[in-house]
Amino acid sequence: MEQAHFPAIDLPVIASPDVCVVGAGPAGVAAALGAARVGLSVLLIERYGFCGGATVAGLSGSICGLYSSGSQPEQIVFGFAEEFRAALAARGGAGEAIPFGRTKLVPHDSLIWKETADDLLQAARVRMLYHTLLLDVTRADDGGVDAMLLRGMEGLFAVRPRVVVDASGDAEVVHRCGGDTTFGRQGVVQAATMVFRLGGVDMDQFFQLDPRRIDAMITEAHERGDYDLPRHHVYLFPMPSGRELLCNMTRITFPDGSVPSGIRSADMTHAEIAGRRQARAYAEFLKARVPGFSRAYMVDTGAQVGIRQTRSIVGKQQLTNDDVLRGRKRPGAVTHSAWPIEAHGAGELRIQYLDDDYYDIPFEALTPRAIPRLLVAGRCLSAEHEALASARVTAQCFGMGYAAGAACGLLCREPTAALNGPDVAAWMRQHRLRTSTEHD
Ligand SMILES: Cc1cc2nc3c(=O)[nH]c(=O)nc-3n(C[C@H](O)[C@H](O)[C@H](O)COP(=O)(O)OP(=O)(O)OC[C@H]3O[C@@H](n4cnc5c(N)ncnc54)[C@H](O)[C@@H]3O)c2cc1C
Repeated sequence: MEQAHFPAIDLPVIASPDVCVVGAGPAGVAAALGAARVGLSVLLIERYGFCGGATVAGLSGSICGLYSSGSQPEQIVFGFAEEFRAALAARGGAGEAIPFGRTKLVPHDSLIWKETADDLLQAARVRMLYHTLLLDVTRADDGGVDAMLLRGMEGLFAVRPRVVVDASGDAEVVHRCGGDTTFGRQGVVQAATMVFRLGGVDMDQFFQLDPRRIDAMITEAHERGDYDLPRHHVYLFPMPSGRELLCNMTRITFPDGSVPSGIRSADMTHAEIAGRRQARAYAEFLKARVPGFSRAYMVDTGAQVGIRQTRSIVGKQQLTNDDVLRGRKRPGAVTHSAWPIEAHGAGELRIQYLDDDYYDIPFEALTPRAIPRLLVAGRCLSAEHEALASARVTAQCFGMGYAAGAACGLLCREPTAALNGPDVAAWMRQHRLRTSTEHD
């Protein structure tokens, strides 16, 4: 390929915080707060103008992963996940938990999510830079990050933190450092979904509908060729206002059935355009065919197509498929999880419940190999393909972020410390931070 040369440049270093958190999704927000609450100075950078990541920009729309799975689901994840749920609920931004198969989830309002995150971060004196993109890093003699190259609205600048938390979802910092990452199962990742909001639905009629009936109607309409509706098991959640539905219905692939990559602009362009078209097709089908939807209208789609999986780091420990299926427990775990393996493949959606059991996410799955002073949090943790299809949901991302942020305090004290779960949990207790596994 033809090459263009850009000369090396010297840039102003605008901040030297204890911690720089990259990405303000659920993991990044929790990481920034965890670090601030152990007394560190924190810079949080985010490419969009709001927090929430896939939860808000992708309209994922609910907190999954708080509850056990089985005939009587109970809350098993607490700590920051519960703090954020309660803060949302106090503002009318989260409803009661509703059934999802053999577990439960908590629908939320995405505007109130943004406002809640802004307020918590400002109250903790986290310095935030929205509309700021991490472009690259330089590495110090110890192999950790020296300076971070950022692109803000005003141009290029640098920051020089002591510790970095990569909460980009895409393991962007680890990748820029040259750290090892994996990409799905032999390069195949889960399919993307364009989520959309629907207004004007007769909610009384909606609550009378059996979701399996909607799935059957979609299958029939697709097979008859009336509509192009490739996904037949769909999720429709009432939003906390009680007046709109969140519609997680689409499945975005290329015409040959392959899955667009969430880290390639050309693939994402296809996914955004195809996602909006497919969302419109599902909305038209609902309006035309399903009782209670005749006056329905599309309010909006997500600000971006929802990406479930890109790079995962190669960590000191990996969360394996077997760990999830056998309910492996770990001392000092970052969080419990009983969310099913919810694998959105290119051709099918497979959901496997962990009935009456749960597994633990180890802290060491947040620690990239051979890069000091760098932790990850959220969906780019070190995990096998199916394990990630369970561990990636919001409650677990909150737990990972909070622990990673708090652990930065240990790294600021001793940059070469080999951190482990029990030490991090003890450090959090020392600073009165609740881990996800603790409650009254
Ligand atoms: C379609 C869909 C539906 C889902 N439904 C649910 C659900 O109902 N309930 C649930 O709990 N979970 C759901 N999930 C999963 C959940 O939303 C995500 O796994 C979760 O948001 C991941 O959190 P994160 O913080 O790790 O990453 P993300 O939410 O992806 O956040 C990463 C952030 O980093 C920012 N960023 C990335 N690169 C850079 C960079 N270079 N510079 C600056 N900023 C950067 C991004 O803009 C983003 O804000 C769903 C996911 C999808 C895709």
